[in-house]
Amino acid sequence: MAIRRSATKRHGLPTIVQLRLTPTPAQAEALAVAVLLCNEAATIVSRLAWQHRVFAVLELHRLAYYEVRAQVAGLGAQAAVRAIARVAGAYANRRASKKRAHIFRPRGAVPYDARLLSWNRDARTVSLWSPTGRVAVSYTGRPEDLKAVDGLPLGEADLICRRGVWLLQVTLALPKPTVREPVGGFVGVDQGVANLAVTCGGAVLPGPALAGPIGGNGHVRTLRERRHRQRRRLQKKGTSSARRVLRRLSGREHRMMIDLNHQISKYVVREAERTGRGVALEDLQGIRGRVRVHRLQRRTLHTWAFAQQAAFTRYKAARAGIAFVLVDPAYTSQGCPECGNVARANRPARGRFACTRCGLAGHADHIAARNIATRGITGWAVINQPHATGLPSARRDRESKPPASAVGS
Ligand SMILES: [Zn+2]
Repeated sequence: MAIRRSATKRHGLPTIVQLRLTPTPAQAEALAVAVLLCNEAATIVSRLAWQHRVFAVLELHRLAYYEVRAQVAGLGAQAAVRAIARVAGAYANRRASKKRAHIFRPRGAVPYDARLLSWNRDARTVSLWSPTGRVAVSYTGRPEDLKAVDGLPLGEADLICRRGVWLLQVTLALPKPTVREPVGGFVGVDQGVANLAVTCGGAVLPGPALAGPIGGNGHVRTLRERRHRQRRRLQKKGTSSARRVLRRLSGREHRMMIDLNHQISKYVVREAERTGRGVALEDLQGIRGRVRVHRLQRRTLHTWAFAQQAAFTRYKAARAGIAFVLVDPAYTSQGCPECGNVARANRPARGRFACTRCGLAGHADHIAARNIATRGITGWAVINQPHATGLPSARRDRESKPPASAVGS
């Protein structure tokens, strides 16, 4: 079993927390016997499984249950069941290990499921199975880990003794937030080359809206200028290897872009959360076609930076219970959000929008973001249409192939 450390993800919610057990000497002895016994049982089951080429849990149960209970004195019914499940899991994960019987280290971590342990969170004790009966052991841990254990549903736990210290590594079952209805509409985000993101509220990102040194446009300008110089240099070369180099961003640029994308998506999702809205982005397939930039630049920036920004936004939105939709990007930069007039002439100059019918004028990316926001509302309505209408075949179609205006969830 791999060693799993106490892991705290970026969003602050740990998925696995490590608790330190403080057993009395007698309890520690009981736990040590339990660990040895469980690992011995697992190895016996594993050898049987390998010998008979039986790896599925139900068949393995039929094959090994009575055998292992007969061979390992003191192994209870639940511990035997758990050992069988553990072996099936080990073989399922590693096809290669079927070449020989998987051996469980005598003092390796032992998984305890809900039938082998029970919590008394008020008393900060956990009751653990041992061959000589249950032992209620006190536990301690980092404040944030204890808080998580107190408040969250708990999954399986691994019991392990490391250098004389008893540890319980607990998997937390994180509650999945339900997506709230975007009552306030959608925050539309236009992704671009000049500005990585512009919202329908007019926030230009990266820009002053972002906190810290990244606020302001310095980073992206540097990035663009460097790429421009690099492009000219490599274009002169014109070889295929030069093109390959161009496609690959340097490590520093790469990290900077990841950081920017994290900050942008964080800002956007917060903005949506604050105003009771969802988040709408353009479908990336369309973005590549819409933004007319140099082919090489498109290759380097578009293929991953925009996709990453969308992925980060989707992830952060899901975590916050915010609706997220990808919309059809066709004509988002040429349509007028006020009067609906769609015309190429609405774009008199690069970066400018001026409606030829109603006169609405503004920053082109901002106008596009407003159109994206409107499409977000339509897209959301289509996705959430009750499936009560239409023929079964039509329903299947809609599920497997979302309409062009609403891809995603
Ligand atoms: Zn107009």
